[in-house]
Amino acid sequence: MLPTVALVGRPNVGKSTLFNALTRTRDALVHDQPGVTRDRHYGVCRLQEDRPFVLVDTGGIAGDEEGLAGATARQARAAAEESDLVLFVVDGREGPSALDDEILSWLRKSGRPVLLVVNKVDGIDARQAENEFARYGFEDVVQTAASHRAGIDELLDDVYARLPNEGRGESLDTDPERVRIAFIGRPNVGKSTLVNRILGEERMIASDVPGTTRDSIAVDLERDGRKYRLIDTAGLRRKSRVDEVVEKFSAIKTLQAIEECQVAVLMLDATEGVTDQDATVLSAILDAGRALVIAINKWDGLSDYQRQQAEDMLPRKLAFVDWAEAVRISALHGSGLRELFRAVHRAHASATREFGTSEVTRAVEIAYETNPPPVVRGHVAKMRFAHPGGTNPPTFIVHGTRLRTLSDTYKRYLENFFRKRFKLVGTPVRFVFKEGE
Ligand code: GDP
Ligand code: GDP
Repeated sequence: MLPTVALVGRPNVGKSTLFNALTRTRDALVHDQPGVTRDRHYGVCRLQEDRPFVLVDTGGIAGDEEGLAGATARQARAAAEESDLVLFVVDGREGPSALDDEILSWLRKSGRPVLLVVNKVDGIDARQAENEFARYGFEDVVQTAASHRAGIDELLDDVYARLPNEGRGESLDTDPERVRIAFIGRPNVGKSTLVNRILGEERMIASDVPGTTRDSIAVDLERDGRKYRLIDTAGLRRKSRVDEVVEKFSAIKTLQAIEECQVAVLMLDATEGVTDQDATVLSAILDAGRALVIAINKWDGLSDYQRQQAEDMLPRKLAFVDWAEAVRISALHGSGLRELFRAVHRAHASATREFGTSEVTRAVEIAYETNPPPVVRGHVAKMRFAHPGGTNPPTFIVHGTRLRTLSDTYKRYLENFFRKRFKLVGTPVRFVFKEGE
């Protein structure tokens, strides 16, 4: 499971600037709840590749007439309470305020581990800023200037030192034969209808995975002779815990399911097209490097005219992931499921394919010979050799000289060349360029 870190503090101290610096995303998953003045934002920090964590920007705790009793504050508290670590962000220029004191006192009551982050220390005496907060009694204080990306490495060191270490990597036992899939999508696209339909058909061989906790529900099943594990979806939760008040959309659960799966099936609603929220969820899948299949659901509910419109619009909207297969399905009627699972299988096979060093080097050589990179200021980038750097997503490490001058266009050419040559479908492909012999 991904650990969760919450940013808490009064408005304007720099929480969202920190959020952006740590997640490097423009589009955060938003948990919109009626009555909340500022939404919570969720993203994944991947600055240290092997230790991702969920970051929550709780919004802000404003000193309005409702104060800490207000809806926004309640929301921020709820977010803090479900996190493994709270970053209490304060403004180094303004020093401690009465509201900071108040926030800190409820943070203490919540019992969550808290790290004090003094932000906006650019251009001021940082030592003095720290002294002003000394009475809060924190042993370690991190100083940042989020808008200048300063202090971020130190902040990360302190965060990692406080996060639970267990649960890194695979949280469930893994059978290499078993494909881990997650159905991902915004509310009402049809996730639980689909999962229930799949489990209904396969009831005899589906079983809850032992050891899965309240928060991580998985079900194993077999289909057409192949083994799958369905990772935490709203559908699974609804089915197995009927008595529970079900959250319609949980951003944390979505991000965790993406992390734990190998193939993400992004579900879209054909009657609504590709919405902003769909695009945000899609970028979370791509950031995680997961294999991707797009399931366009509710195809049954379209008139001929709508069908035509959808056929025109979807490929355009999804052009940037044209390597992913899009399958039209109806969760309600169970149509398209065979094709869907075939696409999942193809995506998984591509994503987990093992490469040899010689075939990768050879591919780079041929790509280079066929279309050498253009001359930049009298020099040309040289790719000397390459080797595989991992799977899911397939990663290729290319060594050479002046590789920094390679343009995005050239990198895209290389990616497409590899996709074609190795017949990779349904998975992102990554290149890492290393300068030197
Ligand atoms: P939030 O309300 O806590 O999320 O605060 P924001 O991230 O929206 O930041 C509030 C204001 O402070 C914005 O104008 C930011 O540009 C500015 N700000 C954020 N971090 C820093 C910093 O490290 N130094 C300075 N000088 N300004 C900052
Ligand atoms: P979730 O929030 O993503 O789990 O979505 P649900 O499975 O709860 O579905 C939301 C609504 O869409 C329900 O009323 C479903 O009956 C309906 N629905 C789901 N799949 C289909 C489908 O394939 N065709 C049609 N016409 N309706 C569907």
